Amino acid sequence: MKYAVVTFGCRVNQADSLGVEAALTAAGATAVSSETADVVLVNTCSVTASADQGARQTIRRIHRENPGARIVVTGCFASRAPVEVAALPGVSAIVPNTAKSTLLPLLGVASAEGPCGRVPGPGLMGRTAWTLRAQTGCDEACSYCIIPKTRGTSRSRTLGDILAELRRVLAAGYKEVALTGVHLGAWGRDLTPLNALGELLVALATEPGDFRVRVSSLEPMDCTDAVLDVIAGHPGRFAAHLHLPLQHADNDLLAAMRRPYTIERYAALVDAVRRRLPEAAIGSDVIVGFPGETDRQADALATYLEASSLTHLHVFPYSDRPGTAAEALPGKVHGAVVKARAQRLRDVSRTLATRFRTAQTGRTRPALTIDDGRTAVTDNYLRVPVPPGRARNEWVDVVVPPPEGAVAAG
Ligand code: SF4
Repeated sequence: MKYAVVTFGCRVNQADSLGVEAALTAAGATAVSSETADVVLVNTCSVTASADQGARQTIRRIHRENPGARIVVTGCFASRAPVEVAALPGVSAIVPNTAKSTLLPLLGVASAEGPCGRVPGPGLMGRTAWTLRAQTGCDEACSYCIIPKTRGTSRSRTLGDILAELRRVLAAGYKEVALTGVHLGAWGRDLTPLNALGELLVALATEPGDFRVRVSSLEPMDCTDAVLDVIAGHPGRFAAHLHLPLQHADNDLLAAMRRPYTIERYAALVDAVRRRLPEAAIGSDVIVGFPGETDRQADALATYLEASSLTHLHVFPYSDRPGTAAEALPGKVHGAVVKARAQRLRDVSRTLATRFRTAQTGRTRPALTIDDGRTAVTDNYLRVPVPPGRARNEWVDVVVPPPEGAVAAG
């Protein structure tokens, strides 16, 4: 069977897609482009209206280019709007997030690990790192967010299950894993006995092997001293990289978003991370145009971000998600204003990234080669070109170059 997987959205979707691709490959199926595939799996996102639109357009394009393909759609858009997705041309099956365990049998594969229990090596879906999902679902109630509806409540994998997957992917040759979850910081709270993310990180820190863990997005309230102690205490194991979603710098808007912290607490956290991990990349997510956002509040957000030691931003223009509390809020911001505010923050993000890269220029950092081996990603999340002669998935020490140059140190 020839198959293609098209993935939108977050690292959890990427983890789910990687698992499917690993199982299909191990079962003897061949990955091809969507134009020539017998089956195309589209793993959708619904975090914004434009995510929905991207999925719709992609499904229409796949059907136009390859009318004979069986299109199977899963993920958050398929879970939120199954009737709408099923009516799109060429769609033969919908698999909501709650039924993802049926996905592999539907695609004709019995096991998530392939017949011999092995995982195909790095390069699946063009990725060098393995995305290791620790949990899914979320118990928070952020007023703008559709995810608790599409993913359900928080469900953690057991420590044994996570470590077993880690050992399989290390045996397959992976050297970096991205630890992820819909609400990663909630890991262990639903397990018996109760557990906490810090304990999972300790287990990963003490696991034998030559590998690095990149902790993906962590809610500010979950980036505790215990978590920072483990990450900062094991620099050879954990990448100097955190992603701490802020969403807004105005406390009234944070309250309206039902985010359980203030800007003062968030700023103190970023300062603490910077003190403990001086070389770290620290990313953030921000929402512009939340209902009621004034010019003054938008200015306050830009002002905080410009002065912060954050290093890059993901900017999300607000859009109503059906059935969320924010959908019912008054004071919707005009689309043109949202667009302008988003553009301003993307400019701020570029400034922060340039500032970080300039500060890092000339420093030697550990890095892993990706793609064809001509590029490496440092532990602190800088892409650095490397001279020819390297393959994908090799450790190198690189001297961080200015934007136009590159020097490999090892
Ligand atoms: S923490 Fe908030 S934004 Fe993140 S998935 Fe849960 S509800 Fe959504």
